[in-house]
Amino acid sequence: MTDHDETMVAAPRLLMPGGSWSGPRAVAMSAGRISRMLDGMPVGAESLVSGALTPGMLDLHNNGAFGVDFATADTAGWRRVLAGLAARGVTSVQPTVITAPLPEILAATRRACVAMDALVGEPVARVLGIHLEGPFLADSRRGAHRADWLLDATPGALDVLLDDAATRRLLRTVTLAPERPHGLEAVRRLVGAGVNVAIGHSDATTAQTLAAVDAGATMVTHLFNAMRPFAHRDPGLVGAALTDARLWCGLIVDGVHVDPVACRLAFQAAGDRLVAVSDSILIAGLPSGTKLEFGGSEVAVDEDGVGRRADGTIAGAGIVLDEGVRRMIAAGIDPATVLRAATEAPARALRRDDLGRLAQGALADLVWWDDDWVPRRVWIGGVEVKHD
Ligand SMILES: [Zn+2]
Repeated sequence: MTDHDETMVAAPRLLMPGGSWSGPRAVAMSAGRISRMLDGMPVGAESLVSGALTPGMLDLHNNGAFGVDFATADTAGWRRVLAGLAARGVTSVQPTVITAPLPEILAATRRACVAMDALVGEPVARVLGIHLEGPFLADSRRGAHRADWLLDATPGALDVLLDDAATRRLLRTVTLAPERPHGLEAVRRLVGAGVNVAIGHSDATTAQTLAAVDAGATMVTHLFNAMRPFAHRDPGLVGAALTDARLWCGLIVDGVHVDPVACRLAFQAAGDRLVAVSDSILIAGLPSGTKLEFGGSEVAVDEDGVGRRADGTIAGAGIVLDEGVRRMIAAGIDPATVLRAATEAPARALRRDDLGRLAQGALADLVWWDDDWVPRRVWIGGVEVKHD
């Protein structure tokens, strides 16, 4: 490494690990990583005179965007969505595949492997691994997942997933309902195979939730949505999620799936365990009024960035995560707290110490936000991928 390979960018304030602001400071980047952090606006640094510099965002729950559904996308589709996300400051994503017959899930994972190999070295969002949301979900909390495709997580069903080469390579997280038959055995086996288990689309009581956490589950999928509602004598999965320090809490931050007041409650209760997610579907990032076919019916993007069917029912979230950041800030949550939930928290939830932090040795994924919290410039591995 030589000095002239190093590039530096400085800003009035930087989001530091732990969620505090510091500045003015500079980030020096070399060979794809942050080589050092410097105080002030050093000579030789490109100095940004306003706004804030943060790590790139990680979206752990994203079914697609920009007209592309990860479950069915070919390599061109993967390129389009990963480039679009990068330009919005989402520098890493955990593509999410919802409930489908197991052969279709395997086929989606194989297409993902082909796309990953084809996109090596391209300036697009990193793929953190695949998130399977289903098919081991509770029928009573299935939401938009098809009832006839739900399964118990039997040893045979897990064999189908874990014996497949593509799935072994890319499977990172499984969302399941631990109260289903074989649920706890499945948690232990998946965790033993290096897969994160998230509890979601579940009717679990508090006791059932804690049994799953004891078995190794570490996350909760879209807190409040598709789970037993919180009640003071039956706090369920929500109560366990908000109070148990072992659980990372995914929260859809579009301000529609969860009311802004409930979002504030979640941020206050879960603190640095709160993980902001989009749970976007393919309509995200498209102009309002756009109509697309999704899940067998026509879905239109409304002015709130929500996908709705013709009868008005919600078909999925239509925000990219930067829009969620702005909505949470507008809801009165401290910007540093929101941004930590979109950067450092998801990285830690996946045990990726090399992501989500402006610190020496971390991968050089950065976002420069303007004073209205719009991402204006983005770097991935020290290479600028967007410059307004
Ligand atoms: Zn869901």
